[in-house]
Amino acid sequence: MGQLIIHVDMDAFYASVEIRDNPALRGKPLIIGSLPGERGVVATCSYEARKYGVHSAMNIKEAFRLCPNGIYMHPNFDKYKAVSQQLNAIWDSYATASQKISLDEAYLDVGEQAGNWEGACRIARLIKKRTLEEVGLTCSVGVAYSKTAAKMASEEKKPDGYFEIPTPDDFVRLIIDRDVSVLYTVGAQTAKKLHAVGINTVRDIRQRQEDVVKMLGKHGQWLAQVAFGIDDRKVVPYRPQDAKSIGREVTFQKDVSNYQLLKDVLLLLSFCVEHRAQHVGLSGKGVMLKLTYSDMKSISRSRTIAFSTNSAVSIYREAVQMIDMVVWKSARLVGVGIYNLSDKEEGQTILKDLFEDGDQQETERKLLLDALQARYGLDFAGHLTQIYQWDTLHKTVEYMRKHFRE
Ligand SMILES: [Mg+2]
Repeated sequence: MGQLIIHVDMDAFYASVEIRDNPALRGKPLIIGSLPGERGVVATCSYEARKYGVHSAMNIKEAFRLCPNGIYMHPNFDKYKAVSQQLNAIWDSYATASQKISLDEAYLDVGEQAGNWEGACRIARLIKKRTLEEVGLTCSVGVAYSKTAAKMASEEKKPDGYFEIPTPDDFVRLIIDRDVSVLYTVGAQTAKKLHAVGINTVRDIRQRQEDVVKMLGKHGQWLAQVAFGIDDRKVVPYRPQDAKSIGREVTFQKDVSNYQLLKDVLLLLSFCVEHRAQHVGLSGKGVMLKLTYSDMKSISRSRTIAFSTNSAVSIYREAVQMIDMVVWKSARLVGVGIYNLSDKEEGQTILKDLFEDGDQQETERKLLLDALQARYGLDFAGHLTQIYQWDTLHKTVEYMRKHFRE
């Protein structure tokens, strides 16, 4: 039996909040994320910036090349979080269960409040109206029988969109002849793989299910179902910010005073966090660093990043930037972790696919591992799977401490 699900997604959220608060920005290409000259990506941009070809996740250098006259701003997450709370209050008032995917996106199970299909559509329109009147922002809303269909419905008429997909038949009719990338779990890399073997449309997925499963495993099984409109997943009440963190730390047998060695240990710990996070299917929008100095004084630092990540390279990158900003003294403990976790299945695999240039990550990963091998004479890449185990990690760290040469 179909469910009554609403997917709501704010339009160009960070950019829209900034424009709302500073009307001088209206009508201009506004790019929120890193600034030109910094290393990083576009978090969100206004629709005017999109006309230049700028989009979320684009390298900031490329964005600047396309749109040198744009207005570039760092994100102001505290502000977006406050707005998000207002949005949550509106959403929650209509839903038996609401599953927050990010600050500006959620699935709502409105079955009980709506009673029937017409009721669900009425609620969806009310949410749009109240969001504009009470928060001053537009959103796109999809009403559908399943989560996948609701998410795709909200995409359909973006921005300020409203779209209904009442049944699996409607869903299939809508997407069957579209490119595979219409399915929101198919990111750029996956699409490339499928295209390479001639699976171009959703119809192709339906006709070549076995190939898709063979190529993509579990994800392939999922796609084969979705291509027929099947998705029975429930809206699971969830607030990412309530989830705990995933972290790893080590205490050294003898204090470490060398900065490079400490960074190398941070890298190993980042690999451990990546392993754990990917295992449980979570990624984090924040990275934290913990240090205990020889005098037992502890400090911790944390930062929110633009996109959820569970990649060791990204975690390490953030951790090193934080450690670069603290007073460096001899340390007895170091730890790294991610927090603000969210469910990877709900879009984060995709985020990673989209936002992290896979090849670039791979290259960076290899460079980092090669550098470790050169410094300590250990084949880290080959032993990563064992390093995830607690005592192997500690042994490895001790080995590194003893063999580190200045
Ligand atoms: Mg959005």
